[in-house]
Amino acid sequence: MPKTAESSEAKKKRARKIVSALHKLYPDADTALRHRSPLQLLLATILSAQSTDETVNKVTPVLFRRFKTARALSGAPPDQIEEIIHSAGFFRQKTKSIQGACRRITDAFDGRVPDNMDDLLTLPGVARKTANVVLGSAFGKCEGMVVDTHVGRLATRLALTWSGKDSKDAVKIERDLMEIIPRKEWTFVGHALIWHGRRVCPARSPDCEHCTLARHCPSAGAV
Ligand code: SF4
Repeated sequence: MPKTAESSEAKKKRARKIVSALHKLYPDADTALRHRSPLQLLLATILSAQSTDETVNKVTPVLFRRFKTARALSGAPPDQIEEIIHSAGFFRQKTKSIQGACRRITDAFDGRVPDNMDDLLTLPGVARKTANVVLGSAFGKCEGMVVDTHVGRLATRLALTWSGKDSKDAVKIERDLMEIIPRKEWTFVGHALIWHGRRVCPARSPDCEHCTLARHCPSAGAV
């Protein structure tokens, strides 16, 4: 691994090797949130903040059986939604976000989740991370990269971002990753890094010894 400052070209080359290794490791990497429509994925992603995918996957079937459309959700008494999503945490704020997003989808987009970044970002409770999950996994569009806490940590440890060690600036990390990773890989790499972060490279005690990415990682054995 380079000990001196790495050129942009060298970083891109190393990033390509990491992407190739990730394809071998996690050929099916995608969101673990179960969904049958863009609306279901959008709401599941809103619910997943500060929660686990397992918990969300238990909550959403009940929610979607009871409320089948954005209009039904936007007009529901908030306490009915709160009761269903309670176990996912922050249930009052999440109910507000769900109802706000559904109201705008109903009023401005004819009940359909918009399929572009600009319109998605006008929905209450939706930032780039959520929009990227929906665009990538529900619409098959690579407009950006999902950057959550795992991707931020992995991008930093793998030195794929120019952000500092303690940077929590997801937008900057996303921009850096998009600069060195080919566009068609954006959706895949976001999810593959999340899987790798959960399975091999958690915040504490990363398993560098058994990590397939170690030979491309400047932090191997040094975290
Ligand atoms: S080598 Fe270690 S720090 Fe680098 S990605 Fe693998 S587990 Fe994480």
